[in-house]
Amino acid sequence: MTFDSLGLEAELLRAVATERYTRPTPIQRQAIPEILAGHDLLAGAQTGTGKTAAFVLPVLQRLSKLGHPQRQPRALILTPTRELAAQVGERVRAYGVHLPLRSTVIYGGVGMQPQVNALQRGVDLLIATPGRLLDHVGRHTADLSRVEILILDEADRMLDMGFIHDIRRILQLLPKQRQNLLFSATYTDEIRRLAEGLLQRPKQIEV
Ligand code: AMP
Repeated sequence: MTFDSLGLEAELLRAVATERYTRPTPIQRQAIPEILAGHDLLAGAQTGTGKTAAFVLPVLQRLSKLGHPQRQPRALILTPTRELAAQVGERVRAYGVHLPLRSTVIYGGVGMQPQVNALQRGVDLLIATPGRLLDHVGRHTADLSRVEILILDEADRMLDMGFIHDIRRILQLLPKQRQNLLFSATYTDEIRRLAEGLLQRPKQIEV
């Protein structure tokens, strides 16, 4: 099994080759074709399984094919912590190096202005922690009205950290018509409830 048999385009295969990944991991083999096909996804996967590439690669491909470049984000990746947001942002840049897409990372504990500047330059893909994202929405420096793909990364940790109300507020700001991907290491009742309200006929993957 190779990455090109999963349906990824040349620009992404080149980036994967630069990373020296020879074979897709189990979560990548299962998730990439489903995401490329536009399905919602409920994925149970721990850190270290290659889950980041499992959603970043197909999301980049969909953004490069779907729709037109615009100033507002078309994909939103929510993460529980600034460290994870920074890591995912770094992976987005590495995997997207051959694509004409812009991304930025926003999280709390640092100044707003550099993030405002990045948002104003226009981004296709936004990686954010929930609280700081809502700060930007409140100041009208982030516009979520054009988001086509939502990814909740480490959703169980976000719930453990008390982000459920922030997540629900963010969901209300998104277009109803969109693709939703939920990644979680564990399946608690709370995750199940969130998934039921969020996902439409999801494909389910467990690794
Ligand atoms: P993650 O589970 O997303 O945190 O990824 C764990 C680590 O695996 C990261 O350092 C990735 O760069 C690496 N990785 C992701 N996919 C592959 C792959 N197909 N082959 C080898 N390493 C990979």
